[in-house]
Amino acid sequence: MKRKPKDFLTAFLLVGGLLLFVGCGKVEKYSMTDIAMGTITNQTIYSKDGDLTLAVRNIMLELEQEELSWRIEGSEVAQINAAGSGVYTPVSDRLYEELEILIKLSEDSGGAFDITIRPVAALWNIDAWAAGKISVTEENQAAEGASTNKEQPDIIPTHEQITLTLTYTGYENLSLTDGSIMLPKDMALDLGAAGKGIACDRIAAYLREQDVYGAVVSVGGSVVTIGKKPGGTPWQIGIIDPRDTSSFIGILYLEGENFVSTSGDYERYVEVDGVRYHHILNPATGYPADSGVRSVTILCDSGILSDALSTACFVLGVEEGMALAESYGAQALFVDMEGNISMTDGMKQFFKEK
Ligand code: ADP
Ligand code: MG
Repeated sequence: MKRKPKDFLTAFLLVGGLLLFVGCGKVEKYSMTDIAMGTITNQTIYSKDGDLTLAVRNIMLELEQEELSWRIEGSEVAQINAAGSGVYTPVSDRLYEELEILIKLSEDSGGAFDITIRPVAALWNIDAWAAGKISVTEENQAAEGASTNKEQPDIIPTHEQITLTLTYTGYENLSLTDGSIMLPKDMALDLGAAGKGIACDRIAAYLREQDVYGAVVSVGGSVVTIGKKPGGTPWQIGIIDPRDTSSFIGILYLEGENFVSTSGDYERYVEVDGVRYHHILNPATGYPADSGVRSVTILCDSGILSDALSTACFVLGVEEGMALAESYGAQALFVDMEGNISMTDGMKQFFKEK
């Protein structure tokens, strides 16, 4: 992104008082909004090293294309999924480490988190809901006739379909050993619940090595903050109101390096006859998680864990979710079906309700 004179002036005014602190280089503000990893990304970087936003964007694109996407042929995950039953596929060191973390979380969450959920996610066709809410009622289905049914066949899978598809899931059936992974027949990996957090980890690792004064980068519902905000004020991360996504229920005030992820039933969903079916699935039932929460926000010192824990805690609900988060040394904030907010003690010092 080109440096505009106006941006320069704003950045100069903001950081003016801090230049003594940060040495002789000039801190300038660079911003970028983009689409990557199937979501909207936002970057604000206060840098002495010039514009780093393109490099950060490339980190996300490479991670998606080379490692995590199950859609992009040639990515590691796609290759693992295509390998066929009984075949051990070698895994890069980084992905191996991530898989170890995620499989451990699957165990620690009693299976509420499960990276083998893909066949069930495919059955629900949740990716077709990516553009936002689709509302289907008996009335408008009838009015729009057969063509609607063809484009969106069987919005709600049958119980038999779900039961059968669940037999192709189960993290405990994965074999991760000696730098390779093997999936049983018809199983597939889906790192969608942790990918944006992994991107935040990679971005943090890169920016730590640059001459960056401070940065805040969001990849969909996962955010990383680094360093300081010029002017001495804390970073402010808004927590979306799950029933009015254009506003916030409150703000997290954070300093230094933090990873924050939110999982909510408002991100991708379909409504059929007034019932909301969303994209966070309970691996035990094969249906959207129904634990009494609308959203979970996790704050911790790791991107992969903040993202994966937010999904796991959403499936577990307030009580068990809170315990899981605390066992990982993470802070959690839940919004329940009545809109009530509850949080770990440690979260209270950072959160201010609107
Ligand atoms: P978002 O992708 O909106 O940030 P999450 O991080 O909660 O939300 O991830 C949801 C995605 O993860 C789904 O789209 C699906 O691909 C996958 N998923 C759904 N349920 C689970 C689960 N219980 N465990 C692991 N992955 C899941
Ligand atoms: Mg997640």
